[in-house]
Amino acid sequence: MLNYSSWIEIDLKQFKKNIQIIRSYLKDALFCLCVKANAYGHGLIEIAKVAQKEKVDCLAVANLMEGIKLREANIKLPILVLGTFHEDQIKDLIDYDLEITISSFFKAKLVKDYCSKYNKKCKVHLKVDTGMGRIGVKPKTARTLYKYLKDQNSFIIRGIFSHLACAEQKDHPMNNIQINSFDDFLNKIKPDKSTILHMANSAYLCNFENDLKDMVRLGALAFGCYSKDLPTKFKDIKSIFSVKSKVSYFKIVEKDQGISYGYSFITKAKSNVVTIPVGYGDGYSRSLSNIGKVLIRGKKYPIIGIICMDQFMVDVTNADAYIGDEVVLIGRQKNEEITIKEIADKCKTISYEILCSFNERLPRVYKS
Ligand SMILES: *Cc1c(COP(=O)(O)O)cnc(C)c1O
Repeated sequence: MLNYSSWIEIDLKQFKKNIQIIRSYLKDALFCLCVKANAYGHGLIEIAKVAQKEKVDCLAVANLMEGIKLREANIKLPILVLGTFHEDQIKDLIDYDLEITISSFFKAKLVKDYCSKYNKKCKVHLKVDTGMGRIGVKPKTARTLYKYLKDQNSFIIRGIFSHLACAEQKDHPMNNIQINSFDDFLNKIKPDKSTILHMANSAYLCNFENDLKDMVRLGALAFGCYSKDLPTKFKDIKSIFSVKSKVSYFKIVEKDQGISYGYSFITKAKSNVVTIPVGYGDGYSRSLSNIGKVLIRGKKYPIIGIICMDQFMVDVTNADAYIGDEVVLIGRQKNEEITIKEIADKCKTISYEILCSFNERLPRVYKS
């Protein structure tokens, strides 16, 4: 870490705390940690290793490649692939022991044909679309599809699940409609006791106390980056993601000088300006140009001018800030903090997207 110009710091101690707090609210429900999109930017393998050590019950990814990466890193936990797959991926999905989502008859038949031909079995979760409108079969069709899965000996039915569209809005009428629709479906098919029923994501766990079913699928809450204010029961859950750099350049600029591409900022007076070696090429959004802030020596300073691919400038007039000083783009410094949510609001998006936008150029440094 010492030789990096800029880096992302992941607080594993707090991550473990977050997991423990969440677990204390799960009662008997299993804990499936969503590690898709490089574990929401936190680093797929390292996060999966901690999850495995902390005895999380299962991991969820979006696609085959993410599952393969986990298996190649020797992760032994059950892995659920939440997204869809193509015919030419079925072999690897089975060979890498990934649990797949069956979201249509078409996909089910592809799997069945493959399994019959090569005499294999496939672990599946049936996805019911109770209103999300993304993937999954409508409850009515799901009844016949469930029967089909049961009748073929190609499938091991591990679970049945659905996903809420509006769970972040506690009072949205769709929540109860979806929950009732899923329950109604389950009452009709009466799945085996061993089948894992799951519906809850972070928003669900925050807003609905009861009936977590057999498993929860959580990403944001575990990483402390849920996009709304947390309910009191989760007040000790904290973000574990910081972005840090060091001042790389210092200069005194005269009045009326343009700064960075396009001169979107002109100095109003003689100013002290520092350069920070991070840019949109790292995933630090260009939308923060002229509106973002960073922390240096425990105080907030404004970004001036357009953020470039690799660097941006900050006005530190009337302050001491020199080359080598630590700069916090996201996270805490002394008594101040720049939260992911603040950044997300400025970028007119949600915290999830801010985290996912940081790519591999900034190394992840893990603090335990
Ligand atoms: C990403 C995802 C989750 C986790 O969502 P969070 O809001 O991060 O808890 C759960 N279920 C499905 C199907 C998902 O795609």
